[in-house]
Formats: sequence, C-alpha cells, structure tokens
Amino acid sequence: MRTFRVELGPRSHPVHVGAGILDRLGELAVEAGIKPTRAALISDTNVAPLFANPVQTALRKSGFEVTTIEIAAGESSKNLEMLGAVYDRMIDTELDRNSVVFGLGGGVVGDLAAFAAATFMRGIAMVQVPTTIVGQVDSALGGKTAVNHRRGKNLIGAFSQPRMILADVATLKTLRDREFREGLAEVIKYGVIMDAPMIADLERDLDAILARDLNTLEGVVERSLRHKAYVVENDEREGGLRKILNFGHTVGHAIEASAGYGNYLHGEAVAIGMLAALRLSHLQAGLPTSDVQRVTTLIARAGLPFEMPRKWNSVDFVAALRLDKKRIEDGVEFVLVDALGHAFTKKLSFEAITSALG
Ligand code: NAD
Repeated sequence: MRTFRVELGPRSHPVHVGAGILDRLGELAVEAGIKPTRAALISDTNVAPLFANPVQTALRKSGFEVTTIEIAAGESSKNLEMLGAVYDRMIDTELDRNSVVFGLGGGVVGDLAAFAAATFMRGIAMVQVPTTIVGQVDSALGGKTAVNHRRGKNLIGAFSQPRMILADVATLKTLRDREFREGLAEVIKYGVIMDAPMIADLERDLDAILARDLNTLEGVVERSLRHKAYVVENDEREGGLRKILNFGHTVGHAIEASAGYGNYLHGEAVAIGMLAALRLSHLQAGLPTSDVQRVTTLIARAGLPFEMPRKWNSVDFVAALRLDKKRIEDGVEFVLVDALGHAFTKKLSFEAITSALG
C-alpha cells in the first residue's frame, strides 16, 4: 500500500492506494482520527453487491455502526430527488453531527455522497472509497462535491474535503471494459499537462494497464493522484493553476453536448477534446507535431476515440462552446501545452477553436 497526504492545513488528509485494502478501511479511518460511530455507507446498485459486504465487515470490526444506503447506478441518480431520498435515510438511521459517510463507488456516488455529507447537519465527516478509474485518479480528490440540476451538470454543490481517501485498485477488476478505458483519458491527461516522463511510462506500461495488472495500476493511480494533489494543494478553489486540469474538457464538453449525450462517455469526449487541444497547442504554442502524434497513438492504443465524430454539427458545437463556464466574450480561456508536461491557459476565439478541428 502507498500512502501520502494532501496538505491543505486543517483540511489535510491521507490518501491510501493499494490492491486488496478494502478490509483495512475501518482501521485506517480510525488512524485518520475518525471516531468509530454511526456511519452511512452510500453505494450504488452495481457496486454494493460487489463490495458492500467486505466494507461493512471492515467497518464493524473497527467499531462503526454502519447502515448501507444504495442508490440506482448511473449519472441520472446524481440529482436533488435522490439527494433528498439519501437525507431521508440518513435521518431515519439517526445519524448525528459526529457520524461519518463512506462513499463507495464511482464519481456519481462520490460526488453525491460527499455533497450529502457536506450539507447534512451543516457538514459531517466523509471518506471517499472510489471504485472506478475516474473516481480513483480524479473525482475522489479535490473536494468538489455536487449534484446535477435539470438545467445543467454539477450546478448545485460545495467545496468540502474528505477526511480520507482509500483507492483499492483491485476493485477496478470488475469494471466494464469501456468504462475502464474511459478513465484512462484522465490518466493520459496528467502526463500531457504535468509529467512528460509519465507519457513514456504509459507507452511502456499500457498493455499491463489494459490487462489490469494490480501492481501497475497501483503505481499509475498513485502517480495521477499525487499530480492532482499538487494542483489542489496550490489552488484549492480553482482560482488559477487548477484550471489546467480542464485540458481537453472545453472541446470535450462541447462534443458531448453537440454529438448528443449518450453517444460518447465523458472520458471518450475528453480524449477527442485532448487531441483538439494538442492540435491547437501546435498551432498556437509551437508544440511539435511529433508530440501531437505520440499522444494520439497512445490514446488510440488505449482504445479511446482519436478523431472528430463523423457526424457533428459545428453550429451546435459553437453554441455549446458559448455555454462554457470559462467563456470570455467571443472566446474561452483554453488550456494549451507548449511542451509535453507544461500547460498554461490562453484566450482563444471560437473561430480559432473550430477552424483547428477539421
Ligand atoms: P459512475 O460513478 O457512474 O460509474 C460508472 C459505472 O461503473 C456505474 O454504472 C457504476 O455503477 C459502475 N461501477 C463503479 N465501480 C465499479 C466496479 N468496481 N465494478 C463494476 N462496476 C462499477 O461514473 P464515473 O465515471 O466513475 O464518474 C463520473 C461522475 O464523476 C460524473 O458525475 C462527473 O461529474 C463526476 N466527476 C467529478 C469530479 C470531481 O472533481 N468531483 C471529477 C471528475 C468527474
């Protein structure tokens, strides 16, 4: 098991990454200063049948009195109605201000459970136990919690840091192939924006990653989380540096919206968005074409889409770009790299962005 701390003053917390460590959850939570007390284990209908039992056993062994709250799997559960139902169960089981919420699942469970914990009785302790690649390398760390509103994704939320993160890479074994590959887009992103040697290591290790070799996964998840931790430690509230994590996401979100939600998983749209951002990085910041090609090959090897959708509508695409949170007048604040491993933001016009997409 590998352990490090996210250093955020009074909100600092440990991160544990390992294979087969779910059964240590209770003991590690106590070690992190969480009192064994009443607890809610929030999970979803796919993950709970796989892992809720061993997690409950681990928590009970350390003195937690745990009730499991199961939500329907999928993004459509990340809403105010489901949140209301979760609060009902938290009240029914008589959780109080000293209680703790454990979120066991992907980013959907993590975001909803963390927002429930951040708001229940003005905020109770929360532990993230992510079971997808997206959860383990991205959403569990950073304190962004949210549910969706019918008018937009993640519109209702709060910044609230977990008290501990435990990422057991053995849980990734049961992920469906498409969802496993989707998460790799975020892993490749860390290499492109922060860590050029990581690209070479991913080129070397990709087959082992795709074969879900646990040692390799442990290393990759830890390295990704350390990068995210560095960014969050230096810019917890996304005033500056944290924006680089949006690399590939501006075009990715616009593709999701204009190609129709459901055609692409989020990570697949981000993969296309990263390629667009690399092409723009070549045009606007002199990134060598050999580097654009290198990352394109890696994305293709990971089984992610590596070209623009065949049928896409540039009018819808620009309309979607205009809704981007990073919009500034007739353009957006766009994340580019001038060399692999070095990212910065620059205002780009909508025209410059669409003309580079081909
Ligand atoms: P998800 O939580 O929907 O999980 C994907 C699917 O995999 C679900 O059907 C789930 O039930 C299933 N699953 C989860 N773990 C499994 C396992 N070990 N074995 C088998 N099946 C498993 O999706 P996700 O991609 O993990 O997360 C996406 C969400 O994360 C989005 O809502 C997004 O907004 C959010 N997110 C948040 C942040 C943040 O900083 N808070 C960052 C990135 C993404």
